[in-house]
Amino acid sequence: MTTYKGYLLKGKVIDGTLNNPIENGAVVIDGERIVWVGEAQLLPPHYNANEYELIDLPGRSIMPGLVDGHTHISFGESRSEEENALYTPVEFRAIKALYYSKKVLQAGVTSAFDAATTYAVAQAVRDAIDSGMYPGPRFTVSGKQITNRQGLEDSFPSNMEFPPGQAAVLVKTKSDLVEAVRLQVKEEVDAIKVSGSNDNLITPDALGVSAFTLEELQIIANETHRLGKICSIHARSTESARDAALAGFDNIFHASYLDEAGIEACLKNNCVITPTLTLLVNLIEADTAMAGASSSSAFKREVEAASKNLRKAYDAGVPLLAGSESGWSPVPYGNWHAREMQIFVDILGMSPLEAIHANTLAVTRLMPRYKNDIGKLEAGRLADILVLPGDPTKDITLLQKPSRFDYIFQGGQPIDRTPLPTRKRRWYERTKTFLAGLYVYNEETGQGQLID
Ligand SMILES: [Zn+2]
Repeated sequence: MTTYKGYLLKGKVIDGTLNNPIENGAVVIDGERIVWVGEAQLLPPHYNANEYELIDLPGRSIMPGLVDGHTHISFGESRSEEENALYTPVEFRAIKALYYSKKVLQAGVTSAFDAATTYAVAQAVRDAIDSGMYPGPRFTVSGKQITNRQGLEDSFPSNMEFPPGQAAVLVKTKSDLVEAVRLQVKEEVDAIKVSGSNDNLITPDALGVSAFTLEELQIIANETHRLGKICSIHARSTESARDAALAGFDNIFHASYLDEAGIEACLKNNCVITPTLTLLVNLIEADTAMAGASSSSAFKREVEAASKNLRKAYDAGVPLLAGSESGWSPVPYGNWHAREMQIFVDILGMSPLEAIHANTLAVTRLMPRYKNDIGKLEAGRLADILVLPGDPTKDITLLQKPSRFDYIFQGGQPIDRTPLPTRKRRWYERTKTFLAGLYVYNEETGQGQLID
């Protein structure tokens, strides 16, 4: 049996940048890294099929593994706020998260930014994967979101304690802010995440205010940066997005109602936007009259506003990053990781190449842990690579069919793609609904009847 040094891939090379793809390209993998990328005809002769296993299938594209800019690996596909914050023991949450990590990897996501965790599950998952114990994307993680009374996580009644399983910590005063950042950093997060506005899933028509003052946001951003971390914020409203950019945050999630002043502040302070429109589009498409606290028309309004405001921001030069929001029941793991690219093309008018860039190299700016190692096909970087039939620069939806990919490489090795066993939900993962309706007595029929 021949022992190869690595792999020699041939096909159309899309490298993760905005450069034109190489139609007849080659990529050489040696060990865990890429050692050569270029025109196949310029391939140095020592990279040959005697020493490197040749993968040369007709009509294939070769591109970086996806870098998902927004996941919640600890959320376990929860169907309600209660399920997420209250139910399921933390130990079981962590084991579930490892199961789902493999599923995410099998969708072609070789790295991901986790945008808030319940307990410290995301850090544990990141470390279990990094230390070689379990397969999964290379994670960069936020800790618990820092929220106050107006952030979306303070959603339970005030007559109870803030639930320890909520994916957030509650701060009450200005002096709590620095302590909250320091505690998260002590708990080994890569990034601080702030809950900067409310959300239509939690409160109806909740998008008109910033949870924190500009001064409070500055305190958070300054302390985060002093401790060498990056700073993200959930900010759907105009004020929250603008003030976060003014305060020096590195990344705004959503920013649907960003205005001119917000765009200017993003440009001035090098702030990027990760819209995660997939969540909203899925909520609309799932075709329920209500999702969370709001009717689907609220989500439609937000997508409409976001499509205008984000396109304006992009035209002005603000980078847009693709993230899926995978982790909730509207966006289950392994299903929708590539959909944001299609939305960027369809709703924001990006080219497929720009969308691929937004879901690969562009996201690495949120990931200092791996920044120069992932996201791009380039000699020296880790060989996290997809090989797939067809040309995603012509049809971006091809990336939503990972079962058709020929290979998903991570660190120079094809990953195990055996489908995971279907998981049964345990009784303790659920909100304890007595009956999904009222069982009333009907005098006419003399029988009981379930009504809404
Ligand atoms: Zn999220």
